[in-house]
Amino acid sequence: MRKMPPREQIKLDGDEMRAMGYRIIDMLVDYTGAQAQFPVTRALDQVTFDEILSEPMPEAGSSWEDVLEQFERQVLTTIDHLDHPRFFAYIPSSSNFVSVMADTLASGYNIFNSLYPLGTGAAIVERLCIRWLCKLCGMPEGAGGVFVSGGSVANLSGLAVARQVLLNGDMRDAVIYASDQAHFVIARGLRILGFAPEQLREIPSDEDFRLPVADLERAIAEDKAAGKRPFCVAATAGTTNTGAVDPLPQLADLCEREGLWLHVDGAYGASACVTEHRKMELAGIERAHSLTWDAHKWMFQPVECSALLVQDRHWLSATFKDTAHFLSDADAHSQEEVGEEMNFMYQGIQLTRYFRALKFWMSVKVFGMAAMRQAIERGFKLAELAESLLRKSGSWEIVTPAQLAIVTFQYKPADGDEALANRITDELSGAMAANGFAFASTTKLGDKTVMRMCTNNPRTTDADLRQTITIMSRLGANLEKQLLDAPAG
Ligand SMILES: *Cc1c(COP(=O)(O)O)cnc(C)c1O
Repeated sequence: MRKMPPREQIKLDGDEMRAMGYRIIDMLVDYTGAQAQFPVTRALDQVTFDEILSEPMPEAGSSWEDVLEQFERQVLTTIDHLDHPRFFAYIPSSSNFVSVMADTLASGYNIFNSLYPLGTGAAIVERLCIRWLCKLCGMPEGAGGVFVSGGSVANLSGLAVARQVLLNGDMRDAVIYASDQAHFVIARGLRILGFAPEQLREIPSDEDFRLPVADLERAIAEDKAAGKRPFCVAATAGTTNTGAVDPLPQLADLCEREGLWLHVDGAYGASACVTEHRKMELAGIERAHSLTWDAHKWMFQPVECSALLVQDRHWLSATFKDTAHFLSDADAHSQEEVGEEMNFMYQGIQLTRYFRALKFWMSVKVFGMAAMRQAIERGFKLAELAESLLRKSGSWEIVTPAQLAIVTFQYKPADGDEALANRITDELSGAMAANGFAFASTTKLGDKTVMRMCTNNPRTTDADLRQTITIMSRLGANLEKQLLDAPAG
């Protein structure tokens, strides 16, 4: 790399900035919309790995062209694209260009959205976006929320609010309930908050992978009889495994009767509130005391963009408000003007925070909710199409039908052997990665290994889906043959 003379002010001149900016925009525009032409997964070779990892911290600077070239060669070539139209693994993140530009603005103007007087316009926009989201899922007037990095932090923060508001911080003998399909970040969040592992009671899910209300009621009664303090149900609206939604209305009734907190992890599924599915699958979501919503999953935002919503916005400041003398001038000023809810550093665990609401606001305004709604509905339709294609192909058993754009299935070997079906399915995602055309991942449901496809990218075509399933069937048949031909043992 060419060495550059020191630039003590840590800045480029105007022409360089333009050249670098235009070059990067060109790269992004060439990439966006052309993802389908790239292999969906990339492999990292040992040489590149060593090359990246062994680089010493540079004393002298280099030209931005050289560093950008190194990024393209070493980094970009070794990442999987979650916005690829044939990336069906985990929960894809299909992103959109407007939000990418909004992120550039948020960073470019270095907007500090923490204290109302310092970032007034940003705070108002974030508050507006939170209002929009609360309204979409039917939360009452006094509801509030905060943008955070992702579902992990939103769930952790929601559980912290529950602990503060219901327990006033006293965790002794408190019990939290969740099904065995709850995302692992619930257990991790509770651990971080200081709950002992046995304070999370995991209820085995029913045959539809939902939290069974009768079993939950029994567990609560048992715990009460044993002198424990049931305090929170952590339900899921759209499990990562199957897209199952826990029975929210019954859970809300139960929580109301028992005086429990209802936290709903809608990280993936809550976006379906934008559609007609709000009334059916997601009925009752508005009764959550706290709700996690990842806009980077199914509202087409680039990572990281998520929100925690709560029924009563004062709960956030009750949990996260603190005082710092060095901020008292700004504080006093903002209290008079707007109250606490726009001081976002008191609404969550971050003080310094960037303006992540900007990408949500800009993209929603540029595309409009009618387009967003259609794009989300497209996810439902694609999963239904995948299900019907899989059924028709004859090579697959549907394990859970299309739910919230997720379908799970298992390869069906000719002899119907369950152990072989598990082995083939288990190796299939590796075979898909090696093939590079499309990617889907596996999970475990009970003792079954299943493939799952999450079809929430609105730019996935019907042809993408057909070709993917054709290739997957062929890869499955190859694996079946290999495993049957392999010498036993
Ligand atoms: C993805 C997911 C999470 C974790 O959210 P991140 O945004 O990845 O931190 C939590 N719960 C559910 C149901 C999820 O799908």
